[in-house]
Amino acid sequence: MDKPLLFPHDKTLERLPTPEREKRLAEKLQRLISYAYDNAPGFRSRIDKIKVNPSEIVNLEDLQKIPVLRKDDLIQLQKENPPFGGYLAVPLNEIDHVYQSPGPIFDPQRRSRGSSSQSQIGKDMIAMNTWSYHITPAGLLIDSTLKGMGFTVFPAGTGNTDLQVQIMHDLKVGGFAGTPSFLAAIIKRAEEMGYDFKRDFNLKYAMVMGEMGGDVLRKMFTEKYGITCLGGDSYATADIGFIASSCDKNSGMHVNTDTIVEIVDPSTGKVIPPGDIGEIIVTPFDEVYPLIRFGTGDLSTLIVEPCQCGRTTPRLPKIMGRSGDAVRVRGMFVHPRQTDEVISRYPEISSYQLIVTRNQNRDEMLLQIELKGEPQNKDVWLEGLKKDFQSICKVRFDKAEFVPTGKINKEAKRITDKRIY
Ligand SMILES: [Zn+2]
Repeated sequence: MDKPLLFPHDKTLERLPTPEREKRLAEKLQRLISYAYDNAPGFRSRIDKIKVNPSEIVNLEDLQKIPVLRKDDLIQLQKENPPFGGYLAVPLNEIDHVYQSPGPIFDPQRRSRGSSSQSQIGKDMIAMNTWSYHITPAGLLIDSTLKGMGFTVFPAGTGNTDLQVQIMHDLKVGGFAGTPSFLAAIIKRAEEMGYDFKRDFNLKYAMVMGEMGGDVLRKMFTEKYGITCLGGDSYATADIGFIASSCDKNSGMHVNTDTIVEIVDPSTGKVIPPGDIGEIIVTPFDEVYPLIRFGTGDLSTLIVEPCQCGRTTPRLPKIMGRSGDAVRVRGMFVHPRQTDEVISRYPEISSYQLIVTRNQNRDEMLLQIELKGEPQNKDVWLEGLKKDFQSICKVRFDKAEFVPTGKINKEAKRITDKRIY
């Protein structure tokens, strides 16, 4: 038996005598031409123009009656009749993906068998998925979520804002998946390019996640641009996938019912009381890849009270940083994101550093501050800073020190741990 060809060939057809094989191909060709004539308006008008009737295409030789469709023609056709130049012969919802090839030309790719959608929200709409498709799983994970919602997906990947703006416009993209800040960057760039985003674009849905402070941008997308944000915040890692997502009460992310989340002290691995900040440990009920008690390295806390939405699953209010960057002071984790948040309320501060030391078995924190402007009443100002620090970091600093401009090393960590045990 000889070796099969790389691509599956019809085992009967490929061994038939040539005239017989060509006869069968001609029958297939007749069906194709008549199908394309009925379903692809671009093809129909192309052969109508040269007055060729589909019934005239009977054998393989007749194919030559149809003019060659060159790449330049397709570019032109797509420009005149976006996005597919009238050559898409099925409804958009039978298309899984749209790609762009040099030209630029948009190429639809048929829906794979078995990928029927569960929801219809994205029916007949193209969604742009700006998560990365290679190496990390985000792209494919979100891709299948979007297809499950009925969207046809343009796998845009990350970066290249200008090109993404153009594609979003030309493909009449109706859905966006990515980070809130990337969508904000696309809108901003579109406006810089002279577009009126609300008028000139077709974006209706945004599934944005993966960042802190997404709520502010979500509100802007909805109020200023009329975009409906799908889902709220969610929490996922590359190893586990989706772990938690927020409900419409916006009061934290509910942990999936097929996952156990613990909040632990990263140094001991022991569970800490609800409300305290620690590392998120995840145990997914996954028989394929049972990562039991997987340490995510992310910091958060757990809300165990039932939610207003009626769900009783525990919630993660937000991700508060990486445990590696955080410093544990008197039992509490202090993370640069928290200290940044405090300092951001004080425009007079140009630079700061929090120095943690240990004195007679007690952790101490010294906050060094460089000022660019003098506060009106320094004592009152400092009291405010102390209060904000405590309410955000859950622990007090012991002393504040004003240092001359340039003293704080900009390269150094904002929280420096100088404790020696
Ligand atoms: Zn809820």
